Amino acid sequence: MARIYNFSPGPAMLPSEVMEQARDEILNWHNTGMSVMEMSHRGKQYTEIAEESEADFRELLSIPSNYKVLFLQGGAATQFAMVPMNLLRGKKKADYLCTGHWSEKAIEEGQKFCEVNVVANTKSTKFTHIPAQQDWNLNSEAAYFHYTPNETIAGVEFHWIPEIGNVPLAVDMSSTLLSRPIDVSKFGVIYAGAQKNIGCAGLTIIIVREDLIGQTLSGTPTMFDYQIHAKNNSMYNTPSTYPWYISSLVFKWLKKKGGLAAMAEINHKKAETLYGFVDNSSFYTNPVDPTCRSWMNVPFILANSNLDEQFLNQAKQAGLANLKGHRSVGGMRASIYNAMPQEGINALVDFMKEFERTKG
Ligand code: PMP
Repeated sequence: MARIYNFSPGPAMLPSEVMEQARDEILNWHNTGMSVMEMSHRGKQYTEIAEESEADFRELLSIPSNYKVLFLQGGAATQFAMVPMNLLRGKKKADYLCTGHWSEKAIEEGQKFCEVNVVANTKSTKFTHIPAQQDWNLNSEAAYFHYTPNETIAGVEFHWIPEIGNVPLAVDMSSTLLSRPIDVSKFGVIYAGAQKNIGCAGLTIIIVREDLIGQTLSGTPTMFDYQIHAKNNSMYNTPSTYPWYISSLVFKWLKKKGGLAAMAEINHKKAETLYGFVDNSSFYTNPVDPTCRSWMNVPFILANSNLDEQFLNQAKQAGLANLKGHRSVGGMRASIYNAMPQEGINALVDFMKEFERTKG
C-alpha cells in the first residue's frame, strides 16, 4: 500500500527518508553486524550516535553553551512534575498561563508541588485566543513562569515570547520544537516529547539553563533531577536508545532540508494554504483568533456536524488519515508537523473543496 498522508496529532508522520535509512540500517548499523537496538548505550558506537545527535540538535537551534540538553524518557507529562521539582529552588510559588488542555495538565501537576498562580485562563472562551500580557496577573515572587507555546488540541500558538524580567520561562514545546528557529536564550527550560516534530515516542528532550539546575526540591527522586542527567550526559541509566537514534536521523534530515529557517518557511506556507482555504469557505470554519493560530495543529469545523463521519470516511479512502478533531473541540483537526509535505496539504484542500461541492 502506498503511504498515506497522516494528519495524526502524535505519534505523527515521520519523513520517509528517515525511515528508509532506519530500515536499511536495522540489522547492521555501519558494518558493525548489529542493530542500534542491540548496542550498549555506553559502547563506542552508541556514544558516537549520542554525541553527534546532540551536536546536530545544538546546531539546529543555535543553543548557547550555558544550556544543557537532556535526552530522557517519560514524555512531556513527566516534565509537568520535573519542572517544579527542579525550578522552584527554595521558592514556594510559580506562575502558570492556561491556554488549553496541556496547560491545564501542567497546572494540575504543578499544584502538587507549589502554590500555583494562574495568571490568566482562556477556558471560558474555549481556548481560542491568547490574552495580552498586560492582562496577566503576574507574581514577582514566582520561581518560574510556565506556558504552552503551542496547544496541540485547540490549535492556539504564541507567535511571540513573553518578557517577564528575571523570572525564568518554562515551556512545553511538545508540538512546536524544531518547526522553526527559536531564541533559546529567552527561556529557562524548554521540554518536548519527540513524537511530533522530533522523532518517535519514547524520547523527551529538555533544554535547560545551567544555573537553574542542582537545587531540587527535597525528596526529589534521582531520576527526576536534571543535574543528575546533565552530569551523566543523559546516561545515568539506560536511555531510550532507538528513539534517540531515530531523532538523530531526523536532525540530519532537517539539516539537509536547510535547517529550521527553511522549515519555518515551508511550515508557514503549509499553514497559510490551509487557513486561507478555510477562511474563504462558508462550509468550514476555524474558531481560533487569527493572531494566534497554530502552524502545527489546524482545527476546522464543518457547517453541518452530521457530515463529520462521512467526511472522515471519504478522507480516509482518499489517503488522508486521522483527521478527527479532539472531542473537546469537535469537527476535524489536521496536524501538519515537519514531515507533512506541502503536497499533503494540497491533497487535503482539494479533497475538502470536492466534499464541499458535493455535500455543502
Ligand atoms: N504537551 C503537549 C503540548 C502535547 O501535545 C502532549 C501530547 N500530545 C503532551 C504534553 C503529553 O505528552 P506525552 O504523551 O509525551 O507525555
